[in-house]
Amino acid sequence: MALTGIQIFKLLPKTNCKECGVPTCLAFAMNLASGKAELDACPYVSDEAKEQLAEASAPPIRPVKIGAGVRAFTTGGETVQYRHEKTFYNKTALGALVPSDMADADLAAKLKVWNAFQFERVGLNLRPELVALKDVNGDAAAFAAKAKLIAESSEFNLVLMAEDLAVMQAGVEAAAFKRPLIYAATEANADDFGALAKDNDLPLAVKADSVEGLVALTDKLTGMGLKDLVIDPGSREIKQALSDQLAIRRAALKDGNRAVGFPTITFPCEMAANLDMETLIASMLIAKYGGIVILSDFAGESLFPLLLERLNIYTDPQRPMTVTEGIYEINNPDENSPVLVTTNFALTYFIVSGEIEGSRVPSYLPIKDSEGLSVMTAWAAGKFAGDDVGIFVKKSGIMDKVKHTELIIPGYAAAIAGDVEEELPGWTITVGPREAAHIPGFLKTK
Ligand code: SF4
Repeated sequence: MALTGIQIFKLLPKTNCKECGVPTCLAFAMNLASGKAELDACPYVSDEAKEQLAEASAPPIRPVKIGAGVRAFTTGGETVQYRHEKTFYNKTALGALVPSDMADADLAAKLKVWNAFQFERVGLNLRPELVALKDVNGDAAAFAAKAKLIAESSEFNLVLMAEDLAVMQAGVEAAAFKRPLIYAATEANADDFGALAKDNDLPLAVKADSVEGLVALTDKLTGMGLKDLVIDPGSREIKQALSDQLAIRRAALKDGNRAVGFPTITFPCEMAANLDMETLIASMLIAKYGGIVILSDFAGESLFPLLLERLNIYTDPQRPMTVTEGIYEINNPDENSPVLVTTNFALTYFIVSGEIEGSRVPSYLPIKDSEGLSVMTAWAAGKFAGDDVGIFVKKSGIMDKVKHTELIIPGYAAAIAGDVEEELPGWTITVGPREAAHIPGFLKTK
């Protein structure tokens, strides 16, 4: 059971030194109890107290690490039911299913296509993480060979899906170095699959035919010393699947039920007859607590929107995405190149820089820190005021890089032109386009 704020307080040093960022140990204890603080923020907690507090500070849904290499990921670790309460931490991992009897050449071709599904967005590389290899004929050697091929020839991490212990053992032996997820321990095989996961220190999925059925199984497996579990309540019908995801999240967070305090794995590939429908179901499960979502295939028109949805849901709503203040050089500018200033909202930067890049016009793009707000919002909030922009331009060093004196400001910030001019005497302040899409045409007239 999680400790209360008062119970936590009794274990703290009670010096009220404020180093944790709050005025008293009691306030820190309350924050810790409600998941608003991390234990590491207090440098004076004794080791003994740390051990006792670990449970209180552990997320109600255990974070589970899966995979190795660049596509390794953590699933779970969530602390809130609704994103606006704080944030969601570990994004839903996306996987595609491969049957173990697929021909090697077909699998290699698929992996090549899937590997190419990588999209750059706001400075991030968006891509899927997993291939779920499913045993379809009980052939342990074929299963192991496919697991090895995927593990060694691609960046993808693995979910190994088999009911037969010997088949699973072969797969684990071939791909253990990639830290695959073993799917799945059931009532029938929990002892054997639990031992296999424990011996190889691998995460283990647990499958039951209901949320209630999961409780007895996870209790048994945690009793065996297994901690990294991923749960599947077995629902393959949309309404029930959603209901189960909600029930699991609520039971873990609101009721403190540790038996379901694990990330989930879901299978749209077993819930629909075509990829379009699977994609719709996957979008629901990304929004509603699916830790891992397995599709029957990856296709650009399905994957890209899911990756974008995931990006949006797993972005901290209290912290706008930003880029660092400074001068960005695009298309190798020189001393005659135009200078366009804008805000440090990541989307603004990437859209504007993308348009400049596409125009092929060498340009300087000074980015002013506007606390992550877009141009109009920053202007309205006083974070992109004329005098500030002028001072920023002076200090940015751009004057050493160009020999002209023209500054282009965003069209939506036209109102600041006069103030910028006052701050930059002798400079011409030109109002640029309102829409980034018009930047290439605008630059070509310069
Ligand atoms: Fe108390 Fe530790 Fe915070 Fe200091 S840093 S006020 S000792 S909880």
